[in-house]
Amino acid sequence: MKVAVIGCTHAGTAAIVNTAKLYPEAEITVYERNDNISFLSCGIALYVGGMVKDPQGLFYSSPAQLAELGVKTNMRHEVIAVDTESKTLRARNLENGTEFEDTFDKLIVTTGSWPVVPKFEGIELENILLSKNFNHSNTIIEKSKQANNIVVVGAGYIGVELVEAFQLNGKQVTLIDAEERILSKYLDAEYTDKIEQSLSDHGITLALNQKVTKFVGEGKVSTVVTDRGEYKADLVILCIGFRPNTELLKGQVDMLGNGAIIVDEYMRTSKPDVYAAGDSCAVFYNPTREHAYIPLATNAVRMGTLVARNLVAPTVKYMGTQGTSGIKIYEDNIAGTGMTEASAKEAGIDAEAVMITDNYRPEFMPTHEPVMLKVVYEKDTRRILGAQIMSKVDLTQSINTISVCIQNGMKMEELAFVDFFFQPHYNKPWNFLNSAGLAALPEVPAREAVTV
Ligand SMILES: Cc1cc2nc3c(=O)[nH]c(=O)nc-3n(C[C@H](O)[C@H](O)[C@H](O)COP(=O)(O)OP(=O)(O)OC[C@H]3O[C@@H](n4cnc5c(N)ncnc54)[C@H](O)[C@@H]3O)c2cc1C
Repeated sequence: MKVAVIGCTHAGTAAIVNTAKLYPEAEITVYERNDNISFLSCGIALYVGGMVKDPQGLFYSSPAQLAELGVKTNMRHEVIAVDTESKTLRARNLENGTEFEDTFDKLIVTTGSWPVVPKFEGIELENILLSKNFNHSNTIIEKSKQANNIVVVGAGYIGVELVEAFQLNGKQVTLIDAEERILSKYLDAEYTDKIEQSLSDHGITLALNQKVTKFVGEGKVSTVVTDRGEYKADLVILCIGFRPNTELLKGQVDMLGNGAIIVDEYMRTSKPDVYAAGDSCAVFYNPTREHAYIPLATNAVRMGTLVARNLVAPTVKYMGTQGTSGIKIYEDNIAGTGMTEASAKEAGIDAEAVMITDNYRPEFMPTHEPVMLKVVYEKDTRRILGAQIMSKVDLTQSINTISVCIQNGMKMEELAFVDFFFQPHYNKPWNFLNSAGLAALPEVPAREAVTV
């Protein structure tokens, strides 16, 4: 079995390593246009901020390790065309420009995503950078040494992590976003209000509810202009979002409107013997039970592993995702899963929510910290749709518990009474997850209450 893999970061590495182990007879050829594989972009802000000193720790595989598994990795090779009918591809060696054809029995598309770069006036100016791969992170570190005023455009997870890193490095930092709130896709206002306050308290300028119109400068960027103001900038990082890298397959397999490849629960595209995983794909989003574009490393490694499991015969099904994610901003440990109250309402779901604010363990303990937990659920069915948590103590793993609840279609009544342990070091007799379920119990006589 001749297997070709395009792209070797998280989805690609997971697919390759598992394919090599499961089918030792397979002839696996990997094409990667970059000069490294398996880079953990989630470490970029920590590397830029100086917490990660040795960037080699941000890689977990290499062409040499893949060679030990019998895999041939063509580094700095870009696949420039794929024909899924004739099962051929065309690749270009980026070092010497030569091109050649290859054939495959099975194709694994793990081409990932690329940052969105709008056609702003002045976008070609120097010192306007992206934050996606290892080379980007090195350029950001190098250029930021000379920069005093840094503007980050885009207040999602990546933008927020970067502004914190730059501020800790003593820079004057501005965060611009078109939305009224930071992290608006992941958290409701009760949380973002507090995080925005924390960023402002650390001296970060928040320029929200405004759109970048142009970049100004002579050769290098010096000012970012929005529809509501102007911000001095020696360095700009664009963190506006990601687009799937799927031009190669356009017109050959089914895709969402944004180009994300649609795969079934066995990671099969609409073409036989063509599989896809990771940021190049849409995922099945359990809260809405629809396909959605949620580019995360967690989805990438799971889907890559499943490609290998299902490469010869459909064997293990993908369970879908809740888009569970976490972030630490200064002292605050924050995580979320599934839908926020705002996103549920935007999706036209009749949703309700409960908010629990309590000390996470008994007050007789020498220390205790407040936790804020919000659980969102569908009003009629009482099915759990999402949750968010924030505390100075790391309680983020609770959100993984709620992720499992959503996965299994649990209702608020079940969350109220499901068994969680109690030990004063860690929590209260009613775990705050139970408390959220209890707070949502309907106020009706028991006989008429919702049956679990
Ligand atoms: C700054 C940052 C922080 C992040 N933090 C987190 C986090 O904390 N948690 C989390 O879950 N996710 C995080 N993510 C998202 C996560 O990094 C991505 O979801 C993940 O990288 C997706 O992996 P992938 O293998 O699908 O695609 P990618 O990482 O996009 O890799 C695709 C690979 O394909 C190669 N390629 C593409 N086209 C071709 C071609 N034609 N020929 C040859 N090679 C090609 C590319 O060079 C690339 O190496 C973060 C992302 C960024 C940028």
